[in-house]
Amino acid sequence: METNLSEEDKDRILQERADNMILNGQISVDGITPADYDRVAPWDLLDPDKRVDPVVRDERMAVCQKCPRLFKLTHTCKECGCFMALKTKLKDATCPLGKW
Ligand code: SF4
Repeated sequence: METNLSEEDKDRILQERADNMILNGQISVDGITPADYDRVAPWDLLDPDKRVDPVVRDERMAVCQKCPRLFKLTHTCKECGCFMALKTKLKDATCPLGKW
């Protein structure tokens, strides 16, 4: 990745790559197990009614960005293993530590 990109651009590029990977079936949102699928599932990302407002998503991401449990290189949570750029979009998703 180019080093002269802003943090916002890096986040956007990572999110677009992750979105494309999940849409292509290359990855799943880890940490959301089949037992949770009646409540929240990776494919809910495809349903606009099951996604939060972008403001809410940004608020959740801001909490994650300050959290010591976020692995910043991949933007994955060390608690649940999820890609936070994706999980924060899901209306019924929750932080495993109750931070959002
Ligand atoms: S989901 Fe919760 S525990 Fe995981 S990085 Fe975000 S705030 Fe931290």
